[in-house]
Amino acid sequence: MKSTPTAALEIILGLPPLDIIIKQEAKAAAIRLSNMGLWSTNTTAQGHSRILDIAKLSAPGSTECSDTTIKTFIFNRSYTIQRDQCGTSDENNYDINIYIDGAKNKKGSGGGVFCPELNLQYSVSFGNKATVFQAEAASLLDGATQIKDTKNSNICFYTDSMAILGALGRTVTKSKLILECHRTLENLSISNNVTVQWIKSHNDNIGNCEADRLARMGSNTLPIGPEPFISLSSKAIRQCLTDKTLSEHNQEWKNRVDCRQTKAFIVSHNHKLTRYLLNLSRSNISLMVGLITGHCCVNKHLYTIGNSTSPLCRTCKEVDETVEHILLACPPTTETRLSILGPTERLPQLLQHPGLLLQFTRELGWLS
Ligand SMILES: [Zn+2]
Repeated sequence: MKSTPTAALEIILGLPPLDIIIKQEAKAAAIRLSNMGLWSTNTTAQGHSRILDIAKLSAPGSTECSDTTIKTFIFNRSYTIQRDQCGTSDENNYDINIYIDGAKNKKGSGGGVFCPELNLQYSVSFGNKATVFQAEAASLLDGATQIKDTKNSNICFYTDSMAILGALGRTVTKSKLILECHRTLENLSISNNVTVQWIKSHNDNIGNCEADRLARMGSNTLPIGPEPFISLSSKAIRQCLTDKTLSEHNQEWKNRVDCRQTKAFIVSHNHKLTRYLLNLSRSNISLMVGLITGHCCVNKHLYTIGNSTSPLCRTCKEVDETVEHILLACPPTTETRLSILGPTERLPQLLQHPGLLLQFTRELGWLS
C-alpha cells in the first residue's frame, strides 16, 4: 500500500537510510585519501574533517594497517612469471622447488610453505581479517624471505593462485603486500634464477597437496596477538564500514517509536528474509510486506484510513482485525493456522518460515 512507511520498507529490504549510506561513503573516502597521503594532518580535525576520526573508529586499523599504498609502477622484473601449467618433470629443472598455498575458512586464514630440498614444511596463521588472496601472497612472501640468503640456484615457487601471478605480473600496484612480494623476489633474483610457476590445484602433485594441507592447518589455527596479522585489504576495510552501517541502521530502527506493527515482526536486519522476499513475484512480495507492516486489507487498517465501517474481525467479530490477531489468535481460523503454521506465540517466529506464512495468507484469501 502507498501508506507503507519508508523506514519499515528499509529494514525489511535491508536498505540503510540514505544519510547513513552517505556517511559510510564519506568514511571510505577519508580512509582512502589518508592512505594515499592526501589527508592533511597539520591541524586538529574540525568540522567535516572529523569524519576521518569517526572512520577510524568504524574500521580499526584502516589507516595504520592498510594494505593500500600510492600507485607504484613496476617496469622491470628480474624473475619469471610462468602462467602455463607446469609439466610433471619440470621440478627436475630447478635446484629448489617451493610450494606455497593459502586457505580461508570460518575460523580464519592461513598459509602453507613446503620445500623438500630445504626440508621446509610449515604453516602460518593469518587471522580472520586476511582474504584468501592475501594468505596466498603472504605465504609466497614468507617462503621467499625464508630463502633470502640463497645464492647461485635455480628457484621455483609454485602457486595454484592465478590471481597472485596476475597481481605480480601487472605493471602497477596499490598493494603493499604485492609490492613487498615483488621486492623480495627481485632481491632473490640478484643471485639466483627465480620463477613463479602456476600449478593446477588438486592435481595429485605431492608438493602442491602438501602446501594445501599446511595452509588448511594454518587456517584452522588461532594466531596469538591482536588483529590484523596482515595489512587490511580494501575489501576488509569496506566490510568493516558496511558492518558499522548495518549496526547503525539497526540501532536507529530500535530507537524508533513508530512502525509498531513492523517492529513486532522485525527486530533488526534479517538477510535471510530479505533474500527470500526479493526472489518473490510482485504480488507475493506485496502481500508479505503488507503483512509485516500491517498496511494490508485488514479491517483495523482499512478503518483507520476510512475504507471500512468497522475495525472488528470479519470472522469472530470480537476484537479488532489486525495481522497479529489473524496470525496468532483468531478462533475461526485456528484449524487452518495450526495445520500450516503450527503452534505459534510470537510474530518473529513466523518469519523463520516465510513460505508457510505466504501459504497461510493465500489460503485465507482475504488479505491481498
Ligand atoms: Zn477473529
